[in-house]
Amino acid sequence: MESFEQLLEVSTRIHGHICAGQVIGVRMAMAGLERIGIDDPKGKDRKKLYVLVEIDRCATDAIQSVTGCSLGKRSLRWMDFGIMAATFVNLETNKAVRITAREESRQLSERYCPEMDDKYKRQLEAYRIMPLDELFTFQEVAVDLEACDMPGRPTRRVQCSKCGDWVQDCRDIIRNGRPICRACDGKRYYKELKD
Ligand SMILES: [Zn+2]
Ligand SMILES: [Zn+2]
Repeated sequence: MESFEQLLEVSTRIHGHICAGQVIGVRMAMAGLERIGIDDPKGKDRKKLYVLVEIDRCATDAIQSVTGCSLGKRSLRWMDFGIMAATFVNLETNKAVRITAREESRQLSERYCPEMDDKYKRQLEAYRIMPLDELFTFQEVAVDLEACDMPGRPTRRVQCSKCGDWVQDCRDIIRNGRPICRACDGKRYYKELKD
């Protein structure tokens, strides 16, 4: 694995700016990979790794950059919980760790770099050097992954009996014996504008 500084440099470039989220995300991903025994996430271990992120914020880009996992590869799954946490899964051994950024780390960061006046710069510097157990909590977990959430070819592809859109990966719902898409099942997030 590359060093923390190298990984942070790459994630900062991809994300577009340096921020506390990049530092936290890179450290979280490195710690996660280490705890599930993955040391070459973009090379020989790439098919063994699966990540579930619980927030769509800065750190998520860093986690994607370090692990190489992505939505498009279906190796990254976004659980929309709004919690600064991610679970790293080794698909070969089923070892999984959920890592949460501790709320206390904001306070604890004040003990580091006291010479810096700017609160956000101080946090950013502190997050680089703080011990992992001040930054994060770690939980060993078991994750039930559905076959239809895994990488690889779609296991199911059906046409919505209402709107005609094609639905992959078991996201269809059976109503009155016929498959419909989630939008037609009342979860439509858009309204078509007709002229
Ligand atoms: Zn950011
Ligand atoms: Zn539909």
